[in-house]
Amino acid sequence: PKLVYDFAEGNKDMKQLLGGKGANLAEMTNLGLPVPPGFTITADACRAYLESGTVPADLADEIDKHVALLQEKMGKKLGQADDPLLVSVRSGAAVSMPGMMETVLNVGLNDDSVNGLAHQSGNPRFAWDAYRRLIQMFGKTVLGMDGDVFEDAIEAAKQAKGTQNDLDLDADDLKAVVETFKQAVHEHTGREFPQDPRTQMDLAIEAVFGSWNSDRAILYRRQERIAADLGTAVNICSMVFGNLGMDSGTGVAFTRDPSTGHPGVYGDYLQNAQGEDVVAGIRNTVPLADLEQIDKTSYDELMAIMATLEGHYRDLCDIEFTVERGKLWMLQTRVGKRTAAAAFRIATSLIDEGVIDADEALGRVKGAQLAQLMFPRFDADAATDLITKAIGASPGAASGKIVFTSDAAVEAAERGEKVILVRRETNPDDLHGMIAAQGVLTSRGGKTSHAAVVARGMGKTCVCGAEELDVNVAQGTITVHGTVLEAGEVISIDGTTGEVFRGEVPVVPSPVVQYFEGTLAPEAGDELVASVHRLITHADEVRRLGVRTNADTGEDAARARRFGAQGIGLCRTEHMFLGERRESVERLILADTDEERDAALAELEPLQRADFLELLGAMDGLPVTIRLIDPPLHEFLPSMEELAVKVAVARERGEDPGRDATLLAAVQRLHEQNPMLGLRGVRLGLVIPGLFAMQVRAIASAAKELGAKGKDPRPEIMIPLVGAAQELHIARDEVERVLAEVDPGRVIPIGTMIELPRAAVTADQIAEAADFFSFGTNDLTQMTWGFSRDDVESSFFSKYLEKGIFAVSPFESIDREGVGALVRTGVDRGRATKPDLKLGVCGEHGGDPDSIHFFHEAGLDYVSCSPFRIPVARLEAGRAAL
Ligand code: PEP
Ligand code: MG
Repeated sequence: PKLVYDFAEGNKDMKQLLGGKGANLAEMTNLGLPVPPGFTITADACRAYLESGTVPADLADEIDKHVALLQEKMGKKLGQADDPLLVSVRSGAAVSMPGMMETVLNVGLNDDSVNGLAHQSGNPRFAWDAYRRLIQMFGKTVLGMDGDVFEDAIEAAKQAKGTQNDLDLDADDLKAVVETFKQAVHEHTGREFPQDPRTQMDLAIEAVFGSWNSDRAILYRRQERIAADLGTAVNICSMVFGNLGMDSGTGVAFTRDPSTGHPGVYGDYLQNAQGEDVVAGIRNTVPLADLEQIDKTSYDELMAIMATLEGHYRDLCDIEFTVERGKLWMLQTRVGKRTAAAAFRIATSLIDEGVIDADEALGRVKGAQLAQLMFPRFDADAATDLITKAIGASPGAASGKIVFTSDAAVEAAERGEKVILVRRETNPDDLHGMIAAQGVLTSRGGKTSHAAVVARGMGKTCVCGAEELDVNVAQGTITVHGTVLEAGEVISIDGTTGEVFRGEVPVVPSPVVQYFEGTLAPEAGDELVASVHRLITHADEVRRLGVRTNADTGEDAARARRFGAQGIGLCRTEHMFLGERRESVERLILADTDEERDAALAELEPLQRADFLELLGAMDGLPVTIRLIDPPLHEFLPSMEELAVKVAVARERGEDPGRDATLLAAVQRLHEQNPMLGLRGVRLGLVIPGLFAMQVRAIASAAKELGAKGKDPRPEIMIPLVGAAQELHIARDEVERVLAEVDPGRVIPIGTMIELPRAAVTADQIAEAADFFSFGTNDLTQMTWGFSRDDVESSFFSKYLEKGIFAVSPFESIDREGVGALVRTGVDRGRATKPDLKLGVCGEHGGDPDSIHFFHEAGLDYVSCSPFRIPVARLEAGRAAL
């Protein structure tokens, strides 16, 4: 296959092959925008390298051809002594991973061509600085040297000169720094800094390939659920310089505000700087609008290009650009990242502007974003001790103790403490600290700084550019207006307003939750709520999947109903046996005689009846699937160890252990090594006479009572953990007998859970005895993989995620190939017997966006999830139907 594409050969739809950056550079090139010429090495080449450890055999030849073409286009040669062609070697994967992989700039400079560049640019200082940057980046990235070696050398040069500022180092100083750098390379690696430009390029390409598997890239992918085997493309792009003087500069721009979604251009610009300087947040930028005064021609051209790009991509774009001596160059664009609130506002604005229709708008917002908008916010009345107000870079309300290093953040999080990571600026090595912290606060850098970009991507609260804060990491203090805050002190940051408060500020519900609760009308003037309302309404119109809730109390049921639930998909009745009722259950399980057992059941029945009255009342007119008891026995019996100790202590003291001894004998008799594989679900119902009958009587009589009051109760009875049709036939017979006794006129559907692999495989037989199926994907995952759902996520899953065995826990998001195949089998075989069999899912996966799309494809009728996930499920069910 072709491994190298000229920018003119690609387009924006080739992201998988050319990476996001390469595909969009190609698109801009073909739109006629000013992109510096270059070419892209495919992600296929990277994957081949990662698999075999060597670059593919044909790659060198293909690169030769494209270098020749580039040299022809540019009228100069790589490393040419009098006027060198210089290139950047940049990573660029199909999915954006900001700052996680490597880049080498100024490739093509050596001891000769640096003089050519000095002459050509008329700026020797610039040329030596460029050479210095090349050796530094090359040393760190390609040769694996410690960055401090270089930082220290620059520091020493500045000290010798008696200055703090890099810009005071002149050409001769930088020439000396280059000499020191070259010696350092020799000392640390035993080889010379390569003078041959093509060797520089080849080594840089390999280093970028290899950076796919750097620690931080692996961590980022796990965090963002990005597949481990995509590989990165590599872009070779002719260099343009934003650091040639004050008529040059570099910037980042958005075609709309990425944090609010409001129209109007937005961005940062930095004069006399390279792109890396902006993202690193090292120097403070000026607002993009200031470029109009600085360089009107470039500004006007940029505005026109931004309009072109928005029109072309029909969405918010973000852009990196450079001005080289008054000439504008586009270095990158893509459909830009945005906050959750901006995603909703932009989607509905674009409908209003006639750019996209409602379906497309719905496709552009995600359930995960809606979930973010449902987080609480600070209570404005309680937020009094304002320290400073800076840039709200990633929304949310976070409180925690101040920590100054990422390691401290991780340590504190491991102790269960909430922390705010406070830094002057962050860099990619801070990723683990950002993950561990509740929020991030920086004193430098704008909305496009590393901290801001990464935090937005993770949905982590971030305030940046808090210049009033003097952050002293070494001393562990923040000084602001004469006040000193120390590590460990609690602060609160508001990522929407940019406010920073001393102490912990209480939070209030988000307006989006108030909207779902029905206490805030969509017309009340909150733009975000209006957008959410429009898109969720559209999702409801287009979705085929019903959305029900998992609820065991009237309160949960009522909330879920306000949030839009169309019934209950799972009421776990064993939850109704906890607390003070536990003793009755204990007596029931341990009963020796029929009398003892019946007495225990008689105690429980009125309590159950009251539960069902409440639940059916709250969901009046909507289906309520009540699952008969499914307790792993160990959850209801006293601990065998504790009892054994009690009995032993009593005997030691010469006392009579009495009832404890009887209890212990019974508990020992019933003890199971693997309770989750033991006497639970339908097995328990078939073994303990009268248990299911008691529950069914409670359900039927509750329905009867409500019916008599003119209500419309719609219970459905569900039998858990069925593996064989015979189990269901026997249970069903008993249920039907009781229903006929209590209320012969009422039809109550009787169904089962499909949560054992055997049930899925024999679903055709099981369907004979079932009016509906509900897939219990928690147990189905546990039983299919042989993963104990109570243990494995906290034991070895992190290793499995690291090794890429799965990108996300199969308990969180459905394993389509394994567990999903069993779901499909259950659907097909069940419907083969009963074409109109009603099918749902009530495992945790019912609220997971990816899984919801799968259940839609598999042809289920509804998903059921916890009350707070209902809006997310409605939205995703709508998106799945597009
Ligand atoms: C399931 O197994 O998916 C299920 C919903 O039942 P539970 O979680 O109660 O075992
Ligand atoms: Mg289950």
